[in-house]
Amino acid sequence: EAGTAELAVRDLHGWYDESHVLHGINFDVRPGEVVTLLGRNGAGKTTTLKAIMGILSKRTGSVRFMGRELIGLPARAIARAGIAFCPEERGIFSSLSVEENLMLPPTIRDGGLSRDDVLGIFPNLRERLQSQGTKLSGGEQQMLAIGRILRTGAKFLLLDEPTEGLAPVIVQQIGATLRTLKQRGFTIVLVEQNFHFAASVADRHYVVEQGRVIDEISDAELAANTEKLHAYLGV
Ligand code: ATP
Repeated sequence: EAGTAELAVRDLHGWYDESHVLHGINFDVRPGEVVTLLGRNGAGKTTTLKAIMGILSKRTGSVRFMGRELIGLPARAIARAGIAFCPEERGIFSSLSVEENLMLPPTIRDGGLSRDDVLGIFPNLRERLQSQGTKLSGGEQQMLAIGRILRTGAKFLLLDEPTEGLAPVIVQQIGATLRTLKQRGFTIVLVEQNFHFAASVADRHYVVEQGRVIDEISDAELAANTEKLHAYLGV
């Protein structure tokens, strides 16, 4: 099974200073899959993404990406290996225009999308090219944030709550975008609280609780088991 995984996370532990928050995370992501990490606030989902990306440096266990061990590598080397992280706060430069934000990311690997290719995926951004980051709606900011990481050439995307705070119609647009990216061969790990959205885009789901993966749910099971999910997520 490990041979078919693009990303294999095994017994991943992570700390903020002395505070031990990941207690042995295990999950796999196969090439071209969209997989979600579901769970309550504080369960450790964001920290898991940071630990994979090397932003959380105090971590142990194993994270194998295309067969290569990432634990011990700095974030820059992990980015060069082809993984990109889109944080919940989106990280776009508010004093720069949309165009400038799009031109900023370095191409880390071959195959990074061109400016025009990104605008093809996010046509809304084309009308906003000269707008400052601060003038964008939440949905436009999220599209810009995803567009920027597509420029780098990464094919494996870690997205932290892309739908947070967005209106339902924008959430649907983001969902359509993620399906497009999947069709184009990207692999995506998505942290989500909105399980309706998760069910609409993902192939499989992992439930995170207190720094551990406590369950794996197929998309069909998710649809048929909303009560179980309500219990997990405490909604
Ligand atoms: P959320 O949706 O609230 O981000 P999450 O599942 O992503 O939830 P994490 O943000 O990974 O949860 O948080 C896991 C635990 O680590 C929580 O107990 C949280 O309080 C703690 N934590 C998160 N960030 C820090 C930090 N910078 N320093 C210390 N503790 C932190």
